[in-house]
Amino acid sequence: MRSKDLLCLVLMAGTLLAQPLRLETMQGKTVMLFTPHPDDDTFCCGGTLALLAKNQNRIHIVIYTNDDKGSYDPEMTSERLARIRKAEEEEACRILGIPKENILWLQYHDGMLEYANPRDLVEQVTGLIRKYRPDAVLSIDPGSENVRWHKTDHRMAAMNTIDAIRAAEWHLYFPNQRLHQGLEPWKVPAEFFYYVTPKEANYFVNIDSVVETKLSAALAHVSQFPPAVERYRPDWDLARLEKMKAALRARAPKRDGHYVEAFRAASGFSEQ
Ligand SMILES: [Zn+2]
Repeated sequence: MRSKDLLCLVLMAGTLLAQPLRLETMQGKTVMLFTPHPDDDTFCCGGTLALLAKNQNRIHIVIYTNDDKGSYDPEMTSERLARIRKAEEEEACRILGIPKENILWLQYHDGMLEYANPRDLVEQVTGLIRKYRPDAVLSIDPGSENVRWHKTDHRMAAMNTIDAIRAAEWHLYFPNQRLHQGLEPWKVPAEFFYYVTPKEANYFVNIDSVVETKLSAALAHVSQFPPAVERYRPDWDLARLEKMKAALRARAPKRDGHYVEAFRAASGFSEQ
């Protein structure tokens, strides 16, 4: 082979390698999703998660809070609600193809994440990123208007995760993790931020093939929908379930006639 041909091949290979990671086609990779509550992962990215699971990727769901406040039922207690929410999340993940062993609960109380010690929180998540060494991280968008105006846990989870992504690649941040736990630095190659506003989204996943799976997973969060949110019951009335599913389907975001999930894709600290 002539040296010019070889050079062309090397350049082509370099271009291919530089292609940004596509969530729809990645296989056998490790993905971490950080979510403020046990349901934001389903609502934002259930279709994408189902596709990732189908393609034999290892998915780790990290849930900041135990969601122990979201009920209007006067009989409900925080402890009971946390147990209910855990079971509902496990069922939603099962539907999406993610085993419950892959769910990590950080167990902060609902609505209280912003009052956790920020240094401890970023250290904790930095350690998880160094442990699992994900090829891609999905997290709530730190630049979105949704974060500025949404509830406390969403703001904190968005900022904390991006701060931990930054810290994880530098060995001088939290060097105790390397010394005592053998956790080496890890640079996250690709980030996909969800709950992004339409004008800020730059990446769309076609979820046509798994939209019904996503809706079923969303409706596994029974306690978060009426009537269970007002007076808890563990199951759906079948007619009501179908009605709610139809309502969610009608509201599901579409682009060019296809069901999609929208993200802000980024690598390093810059948008793609
Ligand atoms: Zn939430």
